[in-house]
Amino acid sequence: MAKSLPKRQKIQDVDNVIVVASGKGGVGKSTTSVNLAIALSNIDKNHSVGLLDVDVFGPSIPKMMNLQEKPQLDKNPVVWRGPMVMSAVQRLLLRTSWGALDYLILDLPPGTGDTQLSISQLIEVNGAVIVSTPQDIALIDARKGAEMFQKVGIPVLGLVQNMSVFQCPKCGHKEHIFGENGVAKMAEDIGVEILGDVPLDQRIRIGSDEGQPVTLEGLSSPQAAAYLKIAENV
Ligand code: ADP
Repeated sequence: MAKSLPKRQKIQDVDNVIVVASGKGGVGKSTTSVNLAIALSNIDKNHSVGLLDVDVFGPSIPKMMNLQEKPQLDKNPVVWRGPMVMSAVQRLLLRTSWGALDYLILDLPPGTGDTQLSISQLIEVNGAVIVSTPQDIALIDARKGAEMFQKVGIPVLGLVQNMSVFQCPKCGHKEHIFGENGVAKMAEDIGVEILGDVPLDQRIRIGSDEGQPVTLEGLSSPQAAAYLKIAENV
C-alpha cells in the first residue's frame, strides 16, 4: 500500500509563505528573492518579512545580503540524499522561531528536485513566483517548474521576466540579449500573470555582489521600481 504523505504544516505565526523558484540556475532567482523581500518590507513599514535561502547545496543569499556571521555548521560540501534534504527543510522551516511574519520568502534551488518536493509535501505554501529569462532554454525548465507547483496544488502567483532588455547607458539603445517576450508568452500559455519585468542592469549585478541590493536605497530608482512592482503584484 502506498505510504501516506505527511500533512502540510503551517509555519507558526507566518501569514504568507512565498516560494521563489526557477527552472535553470543563473536566471536571477536569488536576486529577485532578496529584492522582493526588501521591497515588501518597504511597501509597508509595519510588514515583517523573513527570507530563507533553501538552497542548501549552493546558498547565495548571505553574500547578497552582506551577512558575515558564519552558520554553526561544518563547511563541507553538502552531499545529501532526498530524505536528508527533507529533514533539513523540515527543521529549518518548522523549528526556527521566525516570530510573527507577514511574509516569509523562500529562495529555492533551481529545478524540481528534492527541496521543491519536500516543501510542497511538508509546508503550507501560499504561492510560487517563477523567475526566468526570455531565453528558450530557461523557459522550457521554468514551465516544468510552474507545472509542478500547479500539480501539487501550490498556486503560481505569476512569472518574473528577468534580463529581458539591456539599455546602453551611453546611447540609450535597447538590446534584447536573451530574447524579448518569451516569459510573457509562456505566462499566457499556462494562464498565469506576469508580476514584473526586470531589465539587465549593471547596478542590479553590483548590488548583489556587494551585498547592497538595489532596493535597500529606497524604491524610487528605476532598478528598484521593477522589484516594487513585483512586490505590489504578489
Ligand atoms: P539564480 O538565483 O537564478 O542562480 P542569481 O540571482 O544568483 O541567479 O543571479 C545570477 C547572476 O546574475 C548574479 O551575478 C546576479 O547578480 C546577476 N543578475 C541577476 N539579475 C540581474 C539583472 N536583472 N541585471 C543584472 N544582473 C543580474
